[in-house]
Amino acid sequence: MNKTELTDVIIIGAGPCGLFGVFQFGLIKLRCRVIDVLPEVGGQCSTIYPKKPIYDIPGSPEVLAGKLIKNLEKQIKTFEPIFSLGEKVLKINKKRNKKIEVITNKGNKYIAKVVVIAGGLGCFEPRKPKIENITEYEKTKIDYFVTEPEKYKNKNVVISGGGDSALDWAIFLAEKKYCKTLTLIHRSERFRGHLDSVDKIINLSKKNKINLMLNSQVTNISSEKITINKKQKLNYDFWIPLFGLSPKLGPIAEWGLNLENNKIKVRTYDYKTNLNGVYAIGDINTYKGKLNLILCGFHEAALATQSAYKYINPDKKFLLKYTTVSGVNKF
Ligand SMILES: Cc1cc2nc3c(=O)[nH]c(=O)nc-3n(C[C@H](O)[C@H](O)[C@H](O)COP(=O)(O)OP(=O)(O)OC[C@H]3O[C@@H](n4cnc5c(N)ncnc54)[C@H](O)[C@@H]3O)c2cc1C
Repeated sequence: MNKTELTDVIIIGAGPCGLFGVFQFGLIKLRCRVIDVLPEVGGQCSTIYPKKPIYDIPGSPEVLAGKLIKNLEKQIKTFEPIFSLGEKVLKINKKRNKKIEVITNKGNKYIAKVVVIAGGLGCFEPRKPKIENITEYEKTKIDYFVTEPEKYKNKNVVISGGGDSALDWAIFLAEKKYCKTLTLIHRSERFRGHLDSVDKIINLSKKNKINLMLNSQVTNISSEKITINKKQKLNYDFWIPLFGLSPKLGPIAEWGLNLENNKIKVRTYDYKTNLNGVYAIGDINTYKGKLNLILCGFHEAALATQSAYKYINPDKKFLLKYTTVSGVNKF
């Protein structure tokens, strides 16, 4: 194991409900670690529809999904949550001393008094191109997420895809002039990404800052060259195929939780699961009348928090305080 670290609460999933959970726990002075397999926070809002407006967040007549996530990050900043991003939770184990241990794919072990699963639709995993020998190069030459753009400095970089992620990263790298060469490959002439981004890509290609290859696909790879449309060869250092993400329930299914249709069954007065000290909020849970809406997940976060407080402090009384009275204070 790499490290063992303790916080009051571990929240699995940095979607909107997990982030709002940090706020609710912060109000009652419980510190959270938030773990997400993705390299950035926001869950579905950031990965599937960041530029779509949401109209049913109370008090916000219209808010872009990406902006809602930015607002939540701002709202929880005071409580200094610890983020472990790009880490998949593989296991949760109950310990004898009431504590819960959470183990991730990076070999880290995190301990908490309470765990809140806000895992949404499950782990998002990249859609991989169908190329036979792709696994040979995944550790060295292929990135399904961009986490360290600096590594592409002075390198030959190829991005594939026609959605927002592919366009946004191509624009970012071209504008920063990071790469020795930058190629964007897309299988058709029409993009799925935002119109503004498509215009930018076309302008950057006219200025020779991006080598744009339409109606093209990578059909083969070797250690130094990628083959396009079965004939043209291109030198490359890194290939970044950005074909979107698909959710899979993943390891959550193996944690001894009561499940129904791949969702975690909870009791409705505090969203506790069948395991003591383990709660489930947001899209990952199920109960009679459940609605997969962000506002329902926010409500669930508030009720799970006060129940968790009583679980951690059985001798103390939970006192509801209005934020208008208590304010929002650091620990
Ligand atoms: C196109 C679209 C439009 C929508 N429009 C609206 C709308 O207008 N209004 C509305 O209220 N709702 C809307 N929704 C639904 C809303 O996005 C979801 O209800 C909300 O995202 C649920 O939030 P969450 O925090 O529960 O989960 P998610 O947003 O799904 O986040 C869960 C996170 O958990 C992580 N995770 C899962 N398992 C693990 C693991 N083992 N280890 C580490 N990390 C893990 C995932 O990577 C993910 O980031 C829309 C959804 C879609 C797809």
